[in-house]
Amino acid sequence: GVFMSEKISVGILGATGIVGQNYINLLKNHPWFKVTYLAASPNSAGKTYEEAVSGRWHMKDDIPAEIKKIIVEDANDVNKAKGQCTVLFSAVDLDKKLIAELELSYAENGFAVISNNSAHRFTPDVPMIIPEINHNHTALIDIQRKNRGWKTGLIAVKSNCSIQSYMSPLYALIEAGYPVKKMFVTTLQALSGAGYPGPSGLDVLDNVIPYIKGEEEKSENEPLKILGHIKDGTVANANLPLITAHCNRVPVIHGHTACVSLEFQNDKPDLDEIISIWSNFKSLPQKMLLPSAPERPIIYHYESNRPQPQKDRDTDKAMAVSVGRLRTCNLMDIRFVGLHHNTIRGAAGGCILSAELLKVQGYLGERV
Ligand code: NAP
Repeated sequence: GVFMSEKISVGILGATGIVGQNYINLLKNHPWFKVTYLAASPNSAGKTYEEAVSGRWHMKDDIPAEIKKIIVEDANDVNKAKGQCTVLFSAVDLDKKLIAELELSYAENGFAVISNNSAHRFTPDVPMIIPEINHNHTALIDIQRKNRGWKTGLIAVKSNCSIQSYMSPLYALIEAGYPVKKMFVTTLQALSGAGYPGPSGLDVLDNVIPYIKGEEEKSENEPLKILGHIKDGTVANANLPLITAHCNRVPVIHGHTACVSLEFQNDKPDLDEIISIWSNFKSLPQKMLLPSAPERPIIYHYESNRPQPQKDRDTDKAMAVSVGRLRTCNLMDIRFVGLHHNTIRGAAGGCILSAELLKVQGYLGERV
């Protein structure tokens, strides 16, 4: 047969949570990665994975047979992971300071840590990556390794899920020569974004909660790092756009929606041109045919009542951003609606795509 190189062994910290379960589901038949190590809180440690998630397995497919009997370890014990895997997806939910320390200690011990958590998003030598946008920020890993004396260890993070419904549409316009000056965004964020069990049914059904702790600040600040460029060993943030965000929790299970108005800095493209820019947008993950990359990162819907979470969140392995309702804005230049799957594109799938990018760029240790 064909030559098959050995798969990279990966572990999941927080394997029992909503995001952790998505990793297990998405990595099931992955061509490059194989799940060999699972860790969660001390409550789950010592149990088989099947026992640890008993009564709270949320995926439609069953737990993969090869995962069921793996003994879950304590994610706080770095030594347990040694020799078990080389890459770690971090999706633990803990105090930020503890997560920051924990992820550092895994990286110090030689693991490539790819994190869903916000703890290191603004650490100066840590890249915050959306692979279609700032794939070149992975060069910070060379600086990180030099700064810290790491050989195989690294930390790379993804952005908050709230911003992913508009970041690629925004970036596609900027890249096409239409820089954006101001952006006004209202998010309608799904319940699964709060982890399991999340807010109580009595609080959220028949309701909208107009506050998600820390979310507006993340939505306003993280885009500027992602749109920034590497300079003097760190990322010099972009100055624009100036963003104002209203973040709401709504009774949708999966899929974050964002209603966006924006104002261009100079020229304004017309609406047809914008749709064509979005529909033709492709980036490195598409060119390199990364296994988790959506074929078309941005899908424009012409129907006046789309995108909708129920209908559009699963498009192209739940990795595409769906947009629609592009029209002129009475206050700014244009407005539109964006949608993405928060636990896949916005969490586990997004980090797996980053890991694929890091692999082809030679950062995952196998190419010395
Ligand atoms: P979750 O469902 O509440 O799962 C939390 C995970 O962390 C579980 O595996 C849990 O293990 C583990 N954990 C809890 N306390 C721990 C401790 N003291 N030590 C070690 N592990 C501990 O949360 P989630 O929604 O999957 O979120 C996980 C991370 O991803 C969070 O940092 C979150 O901010 C981020 N994130 C989530 C989303 C989303 O859409 N849900 C999107 C982007 C980012 P046990 O089962 O043993 O308690």
